[in-house]
Amino acid sequence: MRTNYCAEINENDIGKEVELCGWANSYRDHGGVIFIDLRDKTGLVQLVCDPADSENAHKIATRVRDEYVLIAKGKIRARGEGLENPKLKTGKIEVVVDKLIIENHSAALPFVINDQNVNEEIRLKYRYLDLRKKELYNIFNLRSKVSIAVRNVLDEQGFLEVETPILTKSTPEGARDYLVPSRIYQGEFYALPQSPQIFKQLLMISGFDRYFQIAKCFRDEDLRADRQPEFTQIDIEMSFCKEEDVMKVAEDVVKAAFGAAGYEINPPFKKMKYHDAMEKYGTDRPDLRYGLEMTEVADLFEDSTNEIFSTIASNKYLNRIKALKVPGGDNFFSRKMMKELENFVRKFGASGLGYFQMKEEGLKGPLLKFMSEKSIEELVNRCELKTGDLVFFGAGEKKLVLDYMGRLRIEIAKQMNLIDENRFEFVWIVDFPMFEVEDGKVKALHHPFTMPKDININGVEEIESVAYDMVVNGVEIGGGSIRIHKEQIQEEVFKLLGISEEEAKEKFGFLLDALKFGAPPHGGLAFGLDRLIMLLTKTSSIRDVIAFPKTQRAQCLLTEAPNKVANDQLRDLHLRIREIKKDNQ
Ligand code: ASP
Repeated sequence: MRTNYCAEINENDIGKEVELCGWANSYRDHGGVIFIDLRDKTGLVQLVCDPADSENAHKIATRVRDEYVLIAKGKIRARGEGLENPKLKTGKIEVVVDKLIIENHSAALPFVINDQNVNEEIRLKYRYLDLRKKELYNIFNLRSKVSIAVRNVLDEQGFLEVETPILTKSTPEGARDYLVPSRIYQGEFYALPQSPQIFKQLLMISGFDRYFQIAKCFRDEDLRADRQPEFTQIDIEMSFCKEEDVMKVAEDVVKAAFGAAGYEINPPFKKMKYHDAMEKYGTDRPDLRYGLEMTEVADLFEDSTNEIFSTIASNKYLNRIKALKVPGGDNFFSRKMMKELENFVRKFGASGLGYFQMKEEGLKGPLLKFMSEKSIEELVNRCELKTGDLVFFGAGEKKLVLDYMGRLRIEIAKQMNLIDENRFEFVWIVDFPMFEVEDGKVKALHHPFTMPKDININGVEEIESVAYDMVVNGVEIGGGSIRIHKEQIQEEVFKLLGISEEEAKEKFGFLLDALKFGAPPHGGLAFGLDRLIMLLTKTSSIRDVIAFPKTQRAQCLLTEAPNKVANDQLRDLHLRIREIKKDNQ
């Protein structure tokens, strides 16, 4: 119906006849001449409806309202002197309309589309109107380009795109499943996949050699800002490979994805051991756009006259005393700000926040009186303290201290404006522990199909796995592992996880069976596509990168899902809803 898109015409087209289609973004009546900003996915162009040019077009233009659908035919001309709009791509021209059709009307809008302050619930209820915003269109335009770039690079490298089932059985990621009741088998359920993990391993056993899929995954978890109940992974698996091979493919994929967004990045990325990341940054997804590394100083408090500190220092396995040096921090942080930082870490379980200030005349701070001369000297040397530096201390149980000191590090970087938003700092985190022990229960840190490095080590917590995460700017964008391809190792891992033979058979029996039939060495990884797009578009809400997202309460406000269903549907599924009184919950 159109000869051009609105914002794709410019001063080089002056004099040309065009036919444009779109929505009335706005209209203004200037003493008889009506100006309409016509909008399509490319942007805006100004239409002029002057009765002197076309009486009919002008008459129709008087009936135009916001978001009416228009088809306009006319001639491109230069805007008059002083009438140009430098903010608009088409700001130097306008289209003099000789024929105008109102193709459709619009009801009064529930909100002004480009208003930045509209409540998100309303925007999600009328998501199709919200998506008319240029910024949102641009995100989906980029998302599409990234997906295509990823497909192309994987296709070039011999990866086959294979779809795996949505109606399936529980997968091993360990989150809560979404379940679908079976009509045919009374009382039985499908689970929606938390990832295609098992199927992609089965495809390797089938000899497909290289697989990928841009796959929907489902996890029924409590939602945080960067989570959705259904999300998308770029899922990859390959055979006869070492971890370096998977990492190389993954680097090619992110290079292509960033390239599609106009960023040049240069793999290979540096590698950091999980242990080092935790000790230096308090997290396994460190933001390396700034320094602020932590130093372990427990040994300097062994002889402390403060019993709390010396007791903490006496168990180096369970506890940590971390020093976080903030160069120039002494001049930056006032007493009040330091108090606020202390309150900040208290929220994450800290009982306080110690500090030292490096003054011209030497180290100052409330903890000094508990330390020996030698320890103080060693502290200054080890942290390489210079005048004006500030050092924060966290002391206590390892996990707790690493967590709150890691958060403190980020908070300080924010407050001191140390984060360069235009940089991407990639790092591979490697050599993860295979297991973590929580409340005496052994759990797989990645998933139970991850290959352990050496299973015959004493103490499950010492066993490392061949797993790797790709982290950029403090966000984990992908992760994977080399998998177990020998039945016997898989059984041993299940045993360490406390999964009985029956349970393993019941849950993953088909994989264990498949491992009996000549499984090749294989491994892979998955990227979170949504998070990747968030990074590339610098958006902080995952809902901005998903066309029809759910709220933090897992509702779709547009379709009103989840919703009640008719009794006969329930009957077909052999289900009955039990009303639970609020008080008894
Ligand atoms: N399936 C894993 C996950 O979703 C990724 C992988 O190991 O490939 O976390």
